[in-house]
Amino acid sequence: MTRRLPTVGILGGGQLARMLALAAAPLGIRAVALDPVADACAGQVTELVVAGWDDDAALAALAGRVDAVTFDFENVPATTAGQLAGQVAVHPNPGALAIAQDRMAEKTLFRESGLSTPEFAAVDTLDDLRAAVDAIGLPAILKTRRLGYDGKGQFRLKTPADIDAAWSALGEAAARHGLILEAFVPFDRELSVVAVRGKDGDFRTWPLTRNWHVDGVLSLSLAPAPGTSDELGQAAVAHARAIAERLDYVGVFALELFVRGGELLGNEMAPRVHNSGHWTIEGAHTSQFENHVRAVLGLPLGDTGVRGCSAMLNWIGEMPDPAPVLSVADGHWHDYGKEARPGRKVGHATICAPDAGSLRTRLAEVAAGLGREDQIAPALDVLS
Ligand code: AMP
Repeated sequence: MTRRLPTVGILGGGQLARMLALAAAPLGIRAVALDPVADACAGQVTELVVAGWDDDAALAALAGRVDAVTFDFENVPATTAGQLAGQVAVHPNPGALAIAQDRMAEKTLFRESGLSTPEFAAVDTLDDLRAAVDAIGLPAILKTRRLGYDGKGQFRLKTPADIDAAWSALGEAAARHGLILEAFVPFDRELSVVAVRGKDGDFRTWPLTRNWHVDGVLSLSLAPAPGTSDELGQAAVAHARAIAERLDYVGVFALELFVRGGELLGNEMAPRVHNSGHWTIEGAHTSQFENHVRAVLGLPLGDTGVRGCSAMLNWIGEMPDPAPVLSVADGHWHDYGKEARPGRKVGHATICAPDAGSLRTRLAEVAAGLGREDQIAPALDVLS
C-alpha cells in the first residue's frame, strides 16, 4: 500500500501557493493548488488543478483528496468557500473570509474590536459619494468594497472637482462590488502585524514589519520595524489577537496599520499569508508559509522569533539582475517564474543581517549594484 501524505488544497495558484507548497514539502506535506489559469506559477513546483471557482465537480474532487483547504487568493467567491466547507475543513473559515473580502465589514469589525480606522462611508450612488465627501472631507480615497488589492480599484480625490472623475472611474464598479469612501490618512508610517492562530487557539506574531508602498503596491519591508516602541508593538499585537479571536481564525493573516501621531489605525486585513511577511522565509525561525501549513493541518506552531534584521524588496513588472543580491552576504532571491508584465509581482529579494547597521551596509551595496537607490533609500534612512 502506498503511503498517503497529508495534503493541503490551496485555492489560487499564484506565488503565495507556490511558497506554501515549497514550505510544506520538507514536512512531508503535499500541496494541490486549484486555479482557473493554466500557467499559474504554483504549477511549476506542485500539482495544479486547472478549474474555475464555479466548477463544482473539480471542487468536490479536490475536497475528497485533501485534509484541509486554504487560500492563496482571498477573492474566491464566498459561495465556493462555503460549499467546500460542507465537504472538508476550510481555513480560514468562510465567515472570516467573507468579512476580509469586504472593506466595509472589515473596518466595522476593526472598530468593534477596539481598533480605530480612517473615517469611512459606503457609497452606492453618485449622491452617496457627494454626501460622503461632505461628511468625511477631502482628501479622501474612493475604493471598491470588494475585489480591490494592491491599490487597484482606487481613486484619490483631492478637491470637489474630482468627484465626477472618481465616479467615471469607479461608478460602474459600484453596482457590482459596492464602493467605500475613506478619509486620506497623512500617516507617519505603515506597519503590518503578521500573525498565526492554531486550531487550539495558540496565537503568535512575528515582529512588526514596516512597509513602504509605491502606487498602492508594496515596494519595501523592514523587520523588526525600526524605531517602533514596545507600547505600539504590544497594542498592534493585541488588536491582531482580538480580531483573530472574534473571527475564530485559523492560519496566518496580516493586519495592515497606519501610524499617525502615535495612534494606530486599521487599514485592512489579508486573510492569508502576506507579502509583508515574505522576509520570514529566511529571517525568522519559522516562516509564515510553514506556520500557515502547520495551522491549517492542526500541527503545533513553530517559533516566530527572528534571526536578526531583514529587508524585503519587491520586484514589480520584471525581474532585475540577480547578481547584486546573490553576491551580498545573506542575500536571497525569489523568482516566481512568471512572465514579465507591468504592475505584476514577479519576485522578491530578502537581505538578512545580524543587526541594523550591517543590514544597512548590505542594502547600500545592493542598491548600488542594482541601480535601485530610490526603492531602497527609505530603508537606508531609518537603519543605523
Ligand atoms: P490598500 O489596498 O487599501 O491596502 O491600499 C494600498 C496602499 O494605499 C496602502 O498601503 C497605503 O499606502 C495607501 N492607502 C490606502 N488607503 C489609504 C488611506 N485611507 N489614507 C492614506 N493612504 C492610503
